[in-house]
Formats: sequence, structure tokens, C-alpha cells
Amino acid sequence: MNEETYREVIQEAAELVRRAAHPRKGTISLSPETAALLDAIKLAPTPASEAAVGAVAGPAAGASESGPAAELAVLAAEVSACTKCDLCQSRTQTVFSDGSPTADLVFVGEAPGFNEDQQGIPFVGRAGKLLTDIIEKGMKMRREEVYICNVLKCRPPENRDPTLEEKRECEPYLLRQLELVRPKVICALGGHAAKTLLQTDESTGRLRGKWHFYHGIPLRVTYHPAYLLRSPGEKSKTWEDIQEIMKVLSGEVVLEAPDGVQAPWD
Ligand code: URA
Repeated sequence: MNEETYREVIQEAAELVRRAAHPRKGTISLSPETAALLDAIKLAPTPASEAAVGAVAGPAAGASESGPAAELAVLAAEVSACTKCDLCQSRTQTVFSDGSPTADLVFVGEAPGFNEDQQGIPFVGRAGKLLTDIIEKGMKMRREEVYICNVLKCRPPENRDPTLEEKRECEPYLLRQLELVRPKVICALGGHAAKTLLQTDESTGRLRGKWHFYHGIPLRVTYHPAYLLRSPGEKSKTWEDIQEIMKVLSGEVVLEAPDGVQAPWD
């Protein structure tokens, strides 16, 4: 069996155990240590992403070593047991993240939808396909190279908008994810992500087209892929935003955070 097949088998087995341990529908319960190990398997970089980011971690690196992957795995385990709001009653599972724990670019969306709630991975439905196309066809990067997460880690029933309370309860998890990944750029997808991260009520239309800073990290707001599916005429504006992000990632444009603005972890 080659290494890639071996990883797939391990990840499938981990997914079966995770489902069996579902807080409401499951038939088994896991110790926090086992839950953290399972999440480390989910977070462990694939061979493709390792090549892309030059990482040397092995399949269970997140579980046994210190560093962002291990700390993210512990955080993911904490999130998987979260009961801070009522969404824990209706979720199939929490949806923590996808991609590289050492990514230069983090995409932050709103909340999991039906497909994400089923699979435990953000942006895997139609909007996710468009986001993947933006990353792979537009930016010429692999999806595994970036880090993708949401403001909320649980699906709101019928995909309704997140409430202020849900966002307030979940935001510390997002902040910690960003602290651990320490990206060069954050891309906020749509109003909920932008408003939560920038603490503003301004519309996406007014926030996009310029640079903002989130604790010293350059942040660009663009339209949510689900909105772009409904309004394809706006895709060119998102492409403009993405091109500005690419300039910062490549070093062509260097941005200075405003004086006195520093990441809380620096
Ligand atoms: N929309 C989001 O905001 N996040 C997802 O994960 C999927 C759709």
C-alpha cells in the first residue's frame, strides 16, 4: 500500500470513529485525548500540501509534536465538544477548518451549510466549489495550501443567518485559529466574516476594495462565493480583490499596519 492510500485509509477510519462518537447520534464516547488525536489526523497535511508548504511533518505530527498543528488539533477537539450555544443541538458535527495550519492565506466564511455539516469540512458545497476554483484556477494555488474556516463552527438550522450571540460565543475560537496559523493575509468572505473581524456594521460593498487590518494582519474583504453564485456579474470585483491579495502574498506589495496596531500574540 503506498503512503497516500495509507493516509486515506487512516482518515476514513478516523471519520468513521468521529461519526460513531457524535454527541447526540453517536454510539460511543471518546476521551479528550482520543478526540484530539482524531482531529490531528483530520488536520495532518496531505503529501500534496506538505510539498506545497515545504513542511516535513508526518501523518500524526499534530498529535505528538508541539506547534500550531498540535495546538489547532487540541482546539478542534475543544470545539467538537462545544455547547456554548443552541447550535450544538442541531449540528451533525462541528466544522473546524480545512487546509494548512501554516498557510500564508486564511479564508474566513460565515458558517457551515448542509454539506459542510455532513462532511465536517468547510466550503465543500456549491459555494465551496467556487471558492476552490478561485484558489486553484484563479490564484494557481492548491486548496491544501491555504487555511479555510468560518466564523461559526456549527451549521445554523436551514442555513439561517448567524445570530449576534452565536457569533460572540464562537469568535474566540476563530481568533485563536488566526493566532495559531499567523497568516500573512486574511480574506473575509462576505458580510458576517467582515463584520465580525472588523467590528463594524458597514456593508461588504463598502468594505471591499481596500485594505483593513485585523490585529496587524492585512485583511481584504470580498463577496461570499454563495453571493457570487447568485450575482455572477460581481465576480470581476472579487477577482480584483483576489489579485490584490496575490500581490501581498508574492511580496510585490508590502503593507504596513497602522502605527500602534500589533497582533496580541507579538
Ligand atoms: N458558506 C460558508 O460561509 N461556509 C461554508 O463552510 C460553506 C458555505
